[in-house]
Amino acid sequence: MTPQVQSMIAVAYVKDIDTSRAFYELLGFREHSSGREGTSAWSVVGDGEVSVLLAMTELAADLPPLPMLCYLFYEDIGAVVGALDQAGVPVTRTGHPPHALGGEVRVVDPDGNTVLLGQRERSPAQAPADDEGELRFSILREAAVLVASRGGAPRACEFTARDGRRCPTQAEVKLADSLGDSGWFCLPHAEHVLVTVPAAFIASHDDRGIASFLAAAVR
Ligand SMILES: [Zn+2]
Repeated sequence: MTPQVQSMIAVAYVKDIDTSRAFYELLGFREHSSGREGTSAWSVVGDGEVSVLLAMTELAADLPPLPMLCYLFYEDIGAVVGALDQAGVPVTRTGHPPHALGGEVRVVDPDGNTVLLGQRERSPAQAPADDEGELRFSILREAAVLVASRGGAPRACEFTARDGRRCPTQAEVKLADSLGDSGWFCLPHAEHVLVTVPAAFIASHDDRGIASFLAAAVR
C-alpha cells in the first residue's frame, strides 16, 4: 500500500511564545490550541491544513544547528505584506521568480527563522512584473547616495514638462549619453529618461571617469 500523507505540521523552537505568536498572526495564522507548563509553552497556529507548532522550552533540546526555512503561499500577497509593513516588520522583496509570478518576499521571524511568502500566479489586477524597473531604481538610488556623499547635485532637476515648466525638485543624479550630452535629474525623472531614452546612462560620480584617467596618465 502506498503511504499517504494526511497533513504536515512544522515545528519551530522559539525564545518567546507570545512574541512569535504575534508574528505568525501577522502572516495570517490563528492560534488553534496552546499549553503551558512551568517554563515550557507551546502554541499551534493554523487551521490543520497549514500549521506551525511554536514550542518554547528551557531544556537544552537537541536543536538543529540551522534555522527553519518555511515557504508559505498566499492568494493575495499584497494583503500580508500590508499587514507586515503596518507592524513595522522589515520585508525584503525578492522579485517574481517562476514559482511565484505574483511576487515573493522574505521576512525573518523573531527567532531568526527565514520565512518566504509567495503568490503562485499573477492576479489580473496586478501590474506586469517589472523586476527590471526595481533593479534600475535601486541602481539610481545607489548613484544618488554617491552623489550626496560628494556634496550633492549642483542644481535643480533639468526635466522640463511639455508646458515648459521645469521640475522644481533638487536633482540627485547625473545622466549622460554617448554624444556627450548630460543633465541632472531628480530620481523619478532620471527613471523616466532612462526608460524613454535608450542611449542614456548614469554618469558615474566616482573617480574613474575619463578626466581622472587622463589626469593620472599625465602624472
Ligand atoms: Zn525632476
